[in-house]
Amino acid sequence: MSQPGLTIALAGNPNAGKTSLFNALTGARQHVGNYPGVTVEKKEGEVRHQGQVVRVVDLPGTYSLTAYSLEELVARNYVIGERPDVVVDVVDAANLERNLYLAVQFMELGAPLVIALNMMDVAEARGMKIDVAKLSQLLGVPVVPTVARTGKGMEELMAAAVEVARAQRPWRPLVISYGSDVDEGLKELTSLLEGKEVRHGLLDARWLALKCLEADQEVLEKLQSDPHLAQRLLPVCRRVADHVRQTMDDEPESVIADYRYGFISAIARQAITWEREVRMDFSDKVDRVLTNRLIGPLFLVGVLYAVYQFVFWASEGPVAGLEAGFGWLGEAVTGLMPEGALRSLLVDGVIGGVGGVLVFVPLIMFMFFAIAIMEDSGYMARVAYLMDRVLRAFGLHGNSVISLIVGGGISGGCAVPGIMATRTLKDPQARLATMLVVPFMNCGAKMPVFGLLIAAFFADKKPEVMFGLTLFAWALALIAARILRSTLLKGEQAPFVMELPPYRTPTLKGLLIHMWERTWQYLKKAGTMLLSVSIVMWALMSFPGLPEERASHYEQALAQAESEQAKTELKNQQASEELAGSLAGRIGQAVSLITAPLGFEWRTNVALLGGLAAKEVIVSTLGTAYSLGKTEGEEGAASLAERLKEEPGWNALNALSLMVFVLIYSPCLATLVVMRRETGSWRWPAFSVVYTTAVAYLMALIVHQGGRLLGLGG
Ligand code: GDP
Ligand code: MG
Repeated sequence: MSQPGLTIALAGNPNAGKTSLFNALTGARQHVGNYPGVTVEKKEGEVRHQGQVVRVVDLPGTYSLTAYSLEELVARNYVIGERPDVVVDVVDAANLERNLYLAVQFMELGAPLVIALNMMDVAEARGMKIDVAKLSQLLGVPVVPTVARTGKGMEELMAAAVEVARAQRPWRPLVISYGSDVDEGLKELTSLLEGKEVRHGLLDARWLALKCLEADQEVLEKLQSDPHLAQRLLPVCRRVADHVRQTMDDEPESVIADYRYGFISAIARQAITWEREVRMDFSDKVDRVLTNRLIGPLFLVGVLYAVYQFVFWASEGPVAGLEAGFGWLGEAVTGLMPEGALRSLLVDGVIGGVGGVLVFVPLIMFMFFAIAIMEDSGYMARVAYLMDRVLRAFGLHGNSVISLIVGGGISGGCAVPGIMATRTLKDPQARLATMLVVPFMNCGAKMPVFGLLIAAFFADKKPEVMFGLTLFAWALALIAARILRSTLLKGEQAPFVMELPPYRTPTLKGLLIHMWERTWQYLKKAGTMLLSVSIVMWALMSFPGLPEERASHYEQALAQAESEQAKTELKNQQASEELAGSLAGRIGQAVSLITAPLGFEWRTNVALLGGLAAKEVIVSTLGTAYSLGKTEGEEGAASLAERLKEEPGWNALNALSLMVFVLIYSPCLATLVVMRRETGSWRWPAFSVVYTTAVAYLMALIVHQGGRLLGLGG
């Protein structure tokens, strides 16, 4: 350690003016040697600052802190091992973005840092205007403009360096997002590294994990000193690296470097203004258009419209095919099995319940494919950047937009991967707020409900109603976020930089993997949760069954029925009566006093009860509840829609208030489970159930009662 005096380490890219600055600071008081064990020149000098002697160590000039060259290794190991009181990074202001790469690596390491913004004269001559205060604020590091050649700024630099050095604050590594693939991997690796001796109690676990992914030879060798840890860590590291290679078609270290540059590029665009035209690379040129305040949002709307069109166009055929397939399967099973509880369970509970949802998988798959294109190309980062300002006004963050879109922001996502996507949000309050509002989005499970009700009651205004519901969902999410952020989730919004990584051409393989990963999360839910819930709901709706005497009444009536139509009529009546007497039916009737002001029938209540587990269940339950599940032959959404239209308890207003209720009320079980996993307790999921259901009730009440006042719905 560097007691009693303070030690400053000077770092910087070659030709940034480090030697000049070192000389300007130390004058004649310097001596030259080698770093212990290596023949790399080590210059040291002394500065007197306010009566105190400060040691200045000149590190070798490097562009980076990897272990590729001896110079880089020496610089890094000096900082890690010797722990100078402060690192002064000499940055060539005229080449700010390239030079900040090293600064960001010091920040990732967590070392106390001051930036000497050197060559300010050159930068100005080139027509660059650097907002030093803004730069300092965005980086979270003191920045002092200097001209080493003339000695300008030396006093201020020393003052800033000494202030940081004296503060002796613990190392605080900067956390950058490196994209969802790397971030996920880092999380896993970090958890393996936490609290391990191999870190010498000094290094940050996430930093070590990052180095593993960057295949840093030196760190990997150090880790070998704990064979037990290495044995668990290295396979995970290899797997994550392979995954990144597969999806991004690139080495993890270059993906990580891209995100570092993305971080810098976002800062530079806020802190630098150019007085004249400058050479720009491809990404800069594209960004001038796509993140333009006027063209950017227009382009975004265009993209969203294209996504919407593409997804619905591409999935139409497969969805219809699957519908036909499950319909056929249901009939086949009906034909093969004798009538009875088991057949009813298979046909109505399993095939009807789970199949009714699986048919929407193509829709969700294409949606995730479109989202993968947006993410893998780098465009999603621009969307987040564009939306940042708007979302901040509501207490969220630019990156919240990704969660909201994945969660169904364009229609047809899933809140489960949406909530997992909040991991890129570092501000814990903004992250929680995002998690709590993602379930308001128009996810793929609500779509069948809307599809059914719109087909029945708003057939001539399909796109308008769907679009209106989507807008309503966004408005609600933003307002709820604002309220949450000014009540339960209060907190300062830290100045925060959004990474703008360079654009990439997505690979088909990468797109398919990303699409599949999210679809799989959805399928897992459909396969497990939905199957069991469908069975439970079927049971609740089937038992205890009709009393002996009613059952035989129907049996006789059926035997005497003359036409097929009369038979079907009778069967429907019987099913209806069965349902009313079932457990679920009794519950539905019991709460109908509460839901009457919203315009819901008791059968709707039964469906909503099932929807607590998974919203897809609502449609299949309505189907069974309106006794369609029991008739043979034609069934499905169209005929259920017909049926609802004829029901006396149903009209457009009731349907609208039901859609509003379904949009808002309690997140499904799978979402709650993920929320619990991501927040670490049941507190937030429980809160979520209560507040969303309360809001849903209120909104549906306003819609229904308001509509009636306006004389709608009859
Ligand atoms: P090092 O490689 O980082 O040690 O950089 P040097 O100190 O050797 O400087 C490289 C060149 O930049 C030298 O010709 C310096 O005179 C020049 N230089 C250093 N600082 C400044 C500055 O602030 N302004 C200008 N115009 N030139 C500088
Ligand atoms: Mg030099």
